Amino acid sequence: MINKIEHIGIAVKDLEASLEIYRNLLGVDCYKTEAVDSEHVITAFFKCGESKIELLKSTNEEGPIAKFIEKKGEGIHHIAFSVEDIRAEVKRLKEQGFEVLNEEPKKGADNKWVVFLHPKSSSGVLVELCQDRNIK
Ligand code: ZN
Repeated sequence: MINKIEHIGIAVKDLEASLEIYRNLLGVDCYKTEAVDSEHVITAFFKCGESKIELLKSTNEEGPIAKFIEKKGEGIHHIAFSVEDIRAEVKRLKEQGFEVLNEEPKKGADNKWVVFLHPKSSSGVLVELCQDRNIK
């Protein structure tokens, strides 16, 4: 079952500048920054009610965020939905015809297991499913 929008991921060029923009916009400080080496990004999280905003800054020229910005510029990169049982959701969505990019959940930022769905199977939006790593 999909519970809620866990966060919205936003690709940014200049993390310091965007940290200030989102601090001003949301009226709260970023509560965590974390590097995800496998994705070549630094992430920064803001709380926004029950959801979060995740800023994504590429750490090199080759990473997925650098490529995204090169093609589309800064902006919304993905929407993440919180799920209780990520493997059950992957199975359900595959049966529905969604293209799963990584069937085996991988370690994402903010203590999550994550799986991505190809944008072409979800109306042009990269979808992230995430499950808290503390939940077995
Ligand atoms: Zn994310």
